[in-house]
Amino acid sequence: MKDKFGREISYLRISVTQRCNLNCVYCGKGDCAKKAAELPPEGYYKIAKAFARCGIQKIRVTGGEPLVRQDVCEIIRLLRSIPQIETLALTTNGVYLGQTAQALKDAGLDSVNISLDSTDGSTYRRLTGADVLEKVLAGIDEAERVGLSPVKINAVLMKGVNSDGAGQLIALAKERDIDVRFIELMPFSDEGEDRSLIVTGEEILAQFPFLRPVPGENSTAKYYAADGFRGRVGLINSVSHKFCADCNRVRLLCDGKVKPCLGQDAAYDLMPFLNSEEQLEETIKTIIRNKPAGHSFETKGAAHGLNRTGG
Ligand code: SAM
Repeated sequence: MKDKFGREISYLRISVTQRCNLNCVYCGKGDCAKKAAELPPEGYYKIAKAFARCGIQKIRVTGGEPLVRQDVCEIIRLLRSIPQIETLALTTNGVYLGQTAQALKDAGLDSVNISLDSTDGSTYRRLTGADVLEKVLAGIDEAERVGLSPVKINAVLMKGVNSDGAGQLIALAKERDIDVRFIELMPFSDEGEDRSLIVTGEEILAQFPFLRPVPGENSTAKYYAADGFRGRVGLINSVSHKFCADCNRVRLLCDGKVKPCLGQDAAYDLMPFLNSEEQLEETIKTIIRNKPAGHSFETKGAAHGLNRTGG
Protein backbone atom coordinates (compact mmCIF):
# COMPACT_ATOMS: atom_id res chain seq x y z
CA MET A 1 0.00 0.00 0.00
CA LYS A 2 1.20 3.53 -0.79
CA ASP A 3 1.23 6.52 1.55
CA LYS A 4 0.17 10.00 0.43
CA PHE A 5 3.71 10.71 -0.82
CA GLY A 6 3.59 7.64 -3.09
CA ARG A 7 5.95 5.56 -0.94
CA GLU A 8 5.20 1.82 -0.99
CA ILE A 9 5.05 0.68 2.65
CA SER A 10 6.11 -2.97 2.85
CA TYR A 11 8.25 -3.25 6.00
CA LEU A 12 7.01 -3.51 9.60
CA ARG A 13 9.35 -3.38 12.58
CA ILE A 14 7.83 -4.80 15.75
CA SER A 15 9.36 -3.86 19.09
CA VAL A 16 8.23 -6.68 21.40
CA THR A 17 9.61 -5.18 24.60
CA GLN A 18 11.15 -1.99 25.88
CA ARG A 19 13.29 -3.90 28.38
CA CYS A 20 16.94 -4.49 27.64
CA ASN A 21 19.69 -6.43 29.38
CA LEU A 22 22.25 -3.82 28.25
CA ASN A 23 22.35 -0.09 28.85
CA CYS A 24 24.05 1.40 25.79
CA VAL A 25 25.11 5.00 26.32
CA TYR A 26 23.38 6.34 23.20
CA CYS A 27 20.19 4.30 23.27
CA GLY A 28 17.86 4.08 26.22
CA LYS A 29 17.97 7.53 27.77
CA GLY A 30 18.55 5.61 31.01
CA ASP A 31 15.22 3.78 31.01
CA CYS A 32 16.22 0.32 29.78
CA ALA A 33 14.70 -1.37 32.80
CA LYS A 34 11.38 0.46 32.35
CA LYS A 35 8.43 -1.80 31.65
CA ALA A 36 6.01 -0.59 29.02
CA ALA A 37 3.00 -2.86 28.54
CA GLU A 38 3.81 -5.85 26.34
CA LEU A 39 1.28 -7.75 24.23
CA PRO A 40 1.11 -11.54 24.28
CA PRO A 41 2.38 -13.21 21.06
CA GLU A 42 -1.19 -13.44 19.68
CA GLY A 43 -1.54 -9.63 19.94
CA TYR A 44 1.41 -8.99 17.62
CA TYR A 45 0.14 -11.80 15.37
CA LYS A 46 -3.32 -10.23 14.98
CA ILE A 47 -1.84 -6.81 14.24
CA ALA A 48 0.81 -8.19 11.89
CA LYS A 49 -1.86 -10.13 9.95
CA ALA A 50 -3.78 -6.90 9.43
CA PHE A 51 -0.57 -5.14 8.31
CA ALA A 52 0.10 -8.04 5.91
CA ARG A 53 -3.34 -7.51 4.37
CA CYS A 54 -2.28 -3.87 3.84
CA GLY A 55 0.86 -4.88 1.91
CA ILE A 56 3.55 -5.61 4.51
CA GLN A 57 5.93 -8.31 3.24
CA LYS A 58 8.86 -8.01 5.62
CA ILE A 59 8.86 -8.01 9.42
CA ARG A 60 11.76 -7.34 11.77
CA VAL A 61 11.36 -8.18 15.46
CA THR A 62 13.30 -5.81 17.68
CA GLY A 63 13.14 -4.14 21.10
CA GLY A 64 14.46 -3.27 23.75
CA GLU A 65 16.11 -6.61 23.57
CA PRO A 66 13.71 -9.12 21.98
CA LEU A 67 15.54 -12.12 23.43
CA VAL A 68 14.71 -11.08 27.02
CA ARG A 69 11.18 -12.30 26.24
CA GLN A 70 10.80 -15.96 27.15
CA ASP A 71 8.11 -16.33 24.48
CA VAL A 72 10.10 -14.80 21.61
CA CYS A 73 10.13 -18.11 19.69
CA GLU A 74 6.33 -18.27 19.90
CA ILE A 75 6.16 -14.71 18.50
CA ILE A 76 8.42 -15.79 15.63
CA ARG A 77 6.41 -18.98 14.99
CA LEU A 78 3.13 -17.04 14.75
CA LEU A 79 4.57 -14.30 12.51
CA ARG A 80 6.10 -16.99 10.25
CA SER A 81 2.66 -18.48 9.71
CA ILE A 82 1.42 -15.31 7.94
CA PRO A 83 1.55 -16.24 4.25
CA GLN A 84 2.29 -12.73 2.89
CA ILE A 85 5.44 -12.36 5.03
CA GLU A 86 8.39 -13.17 2.78
CA THR A 87 11.18 -12.10 5.15
CA LEU A 88 11.23 -12.48 8.91
CA ALA A 89 14.27 -10.99 10.64
CA LEU A 90 15.33 -10.06 14.17
CA THR A 91 17.68 -7.46 15.64
CA THR A 92 19.45 -8.38 18.87
CA ASN A 93 22.43 -7.42 20.99
CA GLY A 94 23.43 -11.08 20.70
CA VAL A 95 23.97 -11.75 24.41
CA TYR A 96 21.41 -14.59 24.52
CA LEU A 97 21.83 -15.67 20.90
CA GLY A 98 24.19 -18.55 21.68
CA GLN A 99 21.42 -20.28 23.58
CA THR A 100 18.44 -19.32 21.37
CA ALA A 101 19.69 -19.23 17.75
CA GLN A 102 18.71 -22.83 16.98
CA ALA A 103 15.23 -22.45 18.50
CA LEU A 104 14.69 -19.19 16.60
CA LYS A 105 15.73 -20.86 13.35
CA ASP A 106 13.39 -23.79 14.07
CA ALA A 107 10.55 -21.33 14.77
CA GLY A 108 11.00 -19.90 11.27
CA LEU A 109 13.33 -16.91 11.65
CA ASP A 110 15.28 -16.12 8.46
CA SER A 111 18.06 -13.79 9.54
CA VAL A 112 19.57 -11.74 12.37
CA ASN A 113 21.23 -8.37 12.77
CA ILE A 114 23.53 -8.28 15.78
CA SER A 115 24.59 -5.02 17.39
CA LEU A 116 28.29 -4.87 18.16
CA ASP A 117 29.94 -1.48 18.64
CA SER A 118 33.40 -2.67 19.59
CA THR A 119 35.52 -5.82 19.58
CA ASP A 120 37.53 -4.50 22.50
CA GLY A 121 36.30 -5.85 25.84
CA SER A 122 36.77 -2.72 27.93
CA THR A 123 35.31 -0.37 25.29
CA TYR A 124 32.36 -2.74 24.88
CA ARG A 125 31.80 -2.69 28.64
CA ARG A 126 32.00 1.11 28.76
CA LEU A 127 29.43 1.44 25.96
CA THR A 128 26.94 -1.17 27.14
CA GLY A 129 27.48 -1.37 30.89
CA ALA A 130 28.05 -5.15 30.73
CA ASP A 131 31.00 -7.50 30.48
CA VAL A 132 29.47 -9.77 27.85
CA LEU A 133 31.53 -9.32 24.67
CA GLU A 134 32.54 -13.01 24.62
CA LYS A 135 28.89 -14.07 24.78
CA VAL A 136 28.01 -11.80 21.85
CA LEU A 137 30.89 -13.17 19.77
CA ALA A 138 29.72 -16.73 20.59
CA GLY A 139 26.19 -15.67 19.58
CA ILE A 140 27.44 -14.49 16.19
CA ASP A 141 29.18 -17.87 15.66
CA GLU A 142 26.04 -19.76 16.64
CA ALA A 143 23.80 -17.67 14.35
CA GLU A 144 26.09 -18.52 11.43
CA ARG A 145 26.24 -22.18 12.42
CA VAL A 146 22.45 -22.64 12.49
CA GLY A 147 22.04 -20.80 9.17
CA LEU A 148 20.34 -17.58 10.23
CA SER A 149 21.39 -16.00 7.00
CA PRO A 150 22.54 -13.39 6.33
CA VAL A 151 24.17 -12.52 9.65
CA LYS A 152 24.73 -8.77 9.76
CA ILE A 153 26.54 -6.73 12.38
CA ASN A 154 25.31 -3.23 13.22
CA ALA A 155 27.76 -0.79 14.78
CA VAL A 156 27.35 2.81 15.92
CA LEU A 157 30.61 4.75 16.06
CA MET A 158 31.11 7.69 18.41
CA LYS A 159 34.12 10.00 18.11
CA GLY A 160 36.62 9.49 20.90
CA VAL A 161 34.58 6.63 22.36
CA ASN A 162 34.81 3.64 20.01
CA SER A 163 35.69 5.20 16.64
CA ASP A 164 39.27 3.97 16.85
CA GLY A 165 37.92 0.40 16.71
CA ALA A 166 36.35 0.77 13.25
CA GLY A 167 39.27 -1.10 11.63
CA GLN A 168 38.72 -4.18 13.84
CA LEU A 169 35.03 -4.21 12.95
CA ILE A 170 35.84 -3.87 9.24
CA ALA A 171 38.26 -6.80 9.64
CA LEU A 172 35.26 -9.00 10.52
CA ALA A 173 33.80 -8.28 7.08
CA LYS A 174 37.14 -9.12 5.52
CA GLU A 175 37.60 -12.42 7.31
CA ARG A 176 34.01 -13.69 7.47
CA ASP A 177 30.99 -13.87 5.24
CA ILE A 178 29.34 -11.18 7.36
CA ASP A 179 28.17 -7.67 6.51
CA VAL A 180 29.33 -5.06 9.01
CA ARG A 181 27.12 -1.98 8.84
CA PHE A 182 27.91 1.37 10.41
CA ILE A 183 24.81 3.30 11.46
CA GLU A 184 25.29 7.02 11.97
CA LEU A 185 24.56 8.06 15.54
CA MET A 186 21.09 9.58 15.73
CA PRO A 187 21.05 12.56 18.07
CA PHE A 188 19.33 11.57 21.28
CA SER A 189 19.04 14.97 22.90
CA ASP A 190 17.67 18.26 21.61
CA GLU A 191 20.59 20.16 23.14
CA GLY A 192 22.81 18.77 20.41
CA GLU A 193 25.86 18.06 22.53
CA ASP A 194 25.96 14.56 21.08
CA ARG A 195 26.21 15.79 17.47
CA SER A 196 29.97 16.26 17.82
CA LEU A 197 30.21 12.50 18.44
CA ILE A 198 28.70 11.49 15.08
CA VAL A 199 31.01 9.65 12.70
CA THR A 200 29.55 10.03 9.22
CA GLY A 201 29.72 7.43 6.46
CA GLU A 202 31.92 9.83 4.48
CA GLU A 203 34.41 10.02 7.34
CA ILE A 204 34.60 6.22 7.42
CA LEU A 205 35.28 6.09 3.66
CA ALA A 206 37.99 8.73 4.02
CA GLN A 207 39.66 6.68 6.74
CA PHE A 208 39.48 3.40 4.79
CA PRO A 209 40.07 4.50 1.16
CA PHE A 210 40.57 0.89 0.00
CA LEU A 211 36.79 0.33 0.31
CA ARG A 212 35.08 0.33 -3.08
CA PRO A 213 31.32 0.44 -3.74
CA VAL A 214 29.72 -2.90 -4.53
CA PRO A 215 26.25 -3.32 -5.97
CA GLY A 216 23.80 -4.24 -3.25
CA GLU A 217 20.12 -4.84 -2.87
CA ASN A 218 17.95 -1.76 -2.81
CA SER A 219 18.35 -0.95 0.87
CA THR A 220 19.07 1.83 3.33
CA ALA A 221 22.71 0.70 3.46
CA LYS A 222 25.27 1.47 0.75
CA TYR A 223 27.72 -1.42 0.48
CA TYR A 224 31.51 -1.46 0.04
CA ALA A 225 34.27 -4.07 -0.02
CA ALA A 226 37.87 -4.56 -1.08
CA ASP A 227 39.95 -7.34 -2.64
CA GLY A 228 39.97 -10.42 -0.45
CA PHE A 229 36.86 -9.44 1.53
CA ARG A 230 34.39 -12.28 2.22
CA GLY A 231 31.70 -9.92 3.55
CA ARG A 232 30.81 -6.29 2.95
CA VAL A 233 30.93 -3.00 4.81
CA GLY A 234 27.59 -1.16 4.88
CA LEU A 235 27.10 2.52 5.56
CA ILE A 236 23.72 3.67 6.83
CA ASN A 237 23.92 7.44 6.56
CA SER A 238 20.55 8.17 8.10
CA VAL A 239 21.58 11.55 9.52
CA SER A 240 24.03 13.00 6.96
CA HIS A 241 22.03 11.78 3.93
CA LYS A 242 18.52 11.16 5.07
CA PHE A 243 16.57 8.67 2.99
CA CYS A 244 13.05 9.52 4.16
CA ALA A 245 11.91 9.93 0.55
CA ASP A 246 12.45 6.18 0.07
CA CYS A 247 11.21 5.11 3.52
CA ASN A 248 9.16 1.92 3.28
CA ARG A 249 8.66 1.18 6.97
CA VAL A 250 6.38 1.63 9.94
CA ARG A 251 6.94 0.61 13.56
CA LEU A 252 4.74 -1.22 16.02
CA LEU A 253 5.65 -0.55 19.66
CA CYS A 254 5.42 -3.27 22.29
CA ASP A 255 2.19 -1.85 23.75
CA GLY A 256 0.28 -1.93 20.46
CA LYS A 257 0.90 1.63 19.28
CA VAL A 258 2.03 2.34 15.73
CA LYS A 259 4.75 4.87 15.07
CA PRO A 260 4.73 5.79 11.39
CA CYS A 261 8.01 7.77 11.58
CA LEU A 262 10.98 7.17 13.88
CA GLY A 263 11.80 10.86 14.06
CA GLN A 264 8.33 12.15 14.97
CA ASP A 265 6.49 11.93 18.29
CA ALA A 266 3.17 10.68 16.90
CA ALA A 267 2.06 7.15 17.83
CA TYR A 268 -1.41 5.67 17.28
CA ASP A 269 -3.00 3.09 19.55
CA LEU A 270 -4.34 -0.02 17.84
CA MET A 271 -5.53 -1.73 21.03
CA PRO A 272 -9.15 -0.48 20.78
CA PHE A 273 -9.43 -2.25 17.41
CA LEU A 274 -7.72 -5.53 18.27
CA ASN A 275 -10.93 -7.55 18.18
CA SER A 276 -12.21 -6.30 14.86
CA GLU A 277 -10.17 -7.32 11.80
CA GLU A 278 -12.03 -4.76 9.71
CA GLN A 279 -11.46 -1.81 12.06
CA LEU A 280 -7.83 -2.82 12.57
CA GLU A 281 -7.23 -2.85 8.84
CA GLU A 282 -9.02 0.45 8.26
CA THR A 283 -7.07 2.15 11.07
CA ILE A 284 -3.75 0.82 9.74
CA LYS A 285 -4.61 2.05 6.24
CA THR A 286 -5.31 5.54 7.58
CA ILE A 287 -2.05 5.56 9.56
CA ILE A 288 -0.02 4.43 6.53
CA ARG A 289 -1.71 6.92 4.22
CA ASN A 290 -0.78 9.77 6.58
CA LYS A 291 2.82 8.73 7.29
CA PRO A 292 4.87 11.94 7.82
CA ALA A 293 7.32 13.10 5.16
CA GLY A 294 10.38 12.48 7.33
CA HIS A 295 12.50 13.01 10.41
CA SER A 296 14.26 16.22 11.46
CA PHE A 297 17.39 14.79 13.08
CA GLU A 298 19.37 17.63 11.45
CA THR A 299 17.82 19.99 13.98
CA LYS A 300 15.99 17.87 16.54
CA GLY A 301 16.95 14.93 18.77
CA ALA A 302 14.99 11.66 18.82
CA ALA A 303 11.88 12.01 20.96
CA HIS A 304 12.60 8.73 22.75
CA GLY A 305 15.53 6.42 23.19
CA LEU A 306 15.64 3.82 20.45
CA ASN A 307 15.10 1.10 23.04
CA ARG A 308 11.43 2.14 22.87
CA THR A 309 11.07 2.19 19.11
CA GLY A 310 13.52 -0.58 18.21
CA GLY A 311 15.77 1.47 15.94
N1 SAM B 1 18.48 -4.72 21.58
C1 SAM B 1 18.60 -4.90 20.18
C2 SAM B 1 19.98 -4.52 19.68
O1 SAM B 1 20.82 -4.15 20.50
O2 SAM B 1 20.22 -4.62 18.48
C3 SAM B 1 17.52 -4.23 19.34
C4 SAM B 1 17.12 -2.82 19.70
S1 SAM B 1 18.35 -1.57 19.45
C5 SAM B 1 17.41 -0.14 19.87
C6 SAM B 1 18.42 -1.51 17.66
C7 SAM B 1 19.57 -0.75 17.09
O3 SAM B 1 19.39 0.62 17.36
C8 SAM B 1 20.94 -1.13 17.60
O4 SAM B 1 21.74 -1.55 16.53
C9 SAM B 1 21.46 0.15 18.20
O5 SAM B 1 22.84 0.29 18.01
C10 SAM B 1 20.68 1.19 17.45
N2 SAM B 1 20.61 2.47 18.13
C11 SAM B 1 20.16 2.75 19.35
N3 SAM B 1 20.27 4.07 19.65
C12 SAM B 1 20.82 4.64 18.56
C13 SAM B 1 21.19 5.97 18.20
N4 SAM B 1 21.02 7.00 19.04
N5 SAM B 1 21.72 6.17 16.97
C14 SAM B 1 21.89 5.15 16.09
N6 SAM B 1 21.56 3.89 16.37
C15 SAM B 1 21.03 3.62 17.57
